[in-house]
Formats: sequence, structure tokens, C-alpha cells
Amino acid sequence: MPTERQAGAGSGPGPLGLLGGTFDPIHLGHLRLAEEAREALGLERVRLIPAGLPPHRGLPGSTADDRLAMTHLAVAGNPGLEVDDGEVRAAQKSYTVLTLERLRTELGGQRPLVLILGADAFQGLPSWHRWTELFELAHIAVANRPGYAPHGRRWPAVLSPELDAACRGRMTNDPAALRHQPAGRVVPFDMTPLAISASLIRDLLRGSHSARYLLPDTVLDYIDLHDLYR
Ligand code: ATP
Repeated sequence: MPTERQAGAGSGPGPLGLLGGTFDPIHLGHLRLAEEAREALGLERVRLIPAGLPPHRGLPGSTADDRLAMTHLAVAGNPGLEVDDGEVRAAQKSYTVLTLERLRTELGGQRPLVLILGADAFQGLPSWHRWTELFELAHIAVANRPGYAPHGRRWPAVLSPELDAACRGRMTNDPAALRHQPAGRVVPFDMTPLAISASLIRDLLRGSHSARYLLPDTVLDYIDLHDLYR
């Protein structure tokens, strides 16, 4: 496995990880996903991108500004993680393909970009706007998630035929492959299984139960201070 220093060696900056989500609220499943992807895939950094108007679901339980503020609190003190407010600031729906196009303009065509997805998001990919173009703009890294279908080598049995076809010839288990081209590979990786979801946290809070230790204390303090999700 490459070290962080090696990941960026030779050919400019190393791959940049991208983790989009509603983050309603951000929790330890998101943060371990970002941190473990960074280590396992030799990413230079991971950029967390809260959605402004998520296209695939109803209105979030908190505002885009609150979700952005909670994301900032969650990554504070970790130099490997950063926050991108582009989707929150945009007036339009938060389509990932548009974000990747914006990042390509910002970072150029050669920087390897790695879109990080949990297994649930990956399996839903064919419902995303202009989804086949995502493979041209970034690599895709997929983590296991408890409650969702088998992972990695057992995929062919569970992927929809269209997703299976789109992934054909792109699959790799070698993270080093992500540095050889700017986009186009699909790499499964294993993370510590964490059965945490934002909906679970919202349900706990709505029922006046404790959500402590499922998300950072700083985020929980923000939720309490602003009386969110009650
Ligand atoms: P909700 O419960 O409201 O649907 P969520 O917890 O799934 O939210 P999202 O913001 O929708 O969170 O997820 C953003 C990304 O993080 C997605 O790619 C999702 O698959 C991934 N993700 C979220 N929680 C986990 C987890 N516990 N393990 C692995 N991946 C996760």
C-alpha cells in the first residue's frame, strides 16, 4: 500500500477523494468512510461535499447551512479532510456530474479524482443524472455498508445488468491503478462495518433518545444548540 508521501510522488499531487452526501447529520459512518478510503486508497486528501438540494430524496431535516456547519465541525483537526461548499452555494439541484465538471475546471483534467460511495449509493447509481458520464470524470471507490448486498468479488450477482455493464473492464483491486489515469476505474474496498445512518440518528433524536457516540460530540452540541431534528 502506498504511503501518503508516495501517493503524490512523481506525477504531481496524489488522487483527491470526494465524498458527497446529504450529511443530515454527518456521523461516524461518513467520517470513517472518508478516513479509511484515504488510507486504503492512498488519497492525498478527501473533500466532503454536502448536498444543497439533494435530488434523490425529500427535503432534509436541517438546512443546507446547518449541514455545512456540522460538516466543518466534524472535520476540524483532521488535515486529511476538507469541506467543499460548492453544492450548498449553488442554486440548482446537487447533481454529482455537475460537481465533477466543476472540479475538473478547478483542478484540470489530469488530477486523479476518486468518488467515494457506500454500497447503497453505488447500487443506486443508474438513477443518477447523466450517471454513465461519472466514469469519465472520476474513479469510483465503493465501500461495504452493513445491510446492503455483498461486496467486491461477489458483486456480479447483485449489480443491476446496466451497472454491471458500465463497470466491465473498469474493475480493479489495486489502489495504485488510481494514480495511473485521472478517471475510469472502479475499486471496491473494505471499511470497518458501521451500521450507522443519518436516519437512525434523526429517529433517535426525534424520540428524545441519546445519539451520543454515533457522531462527533461537536456535531451533537450543534444539534442541541440549534434544536435540530426534535
Ligand atoms: P440517510 O440515513 O438520511 O439516508 P446516510 O446515513 O445514508 O443518510 P448520506 O449522507 O445519504 O448518509 O450518505 C452519504 C454517503 O455516505 C453515501 O455514499 C453512503 O453510502 C455513505 N455512507 C453513509 N453512512 C455509511 C456507513 N455507515 N457505512 C458506509 N457508507 C456510508
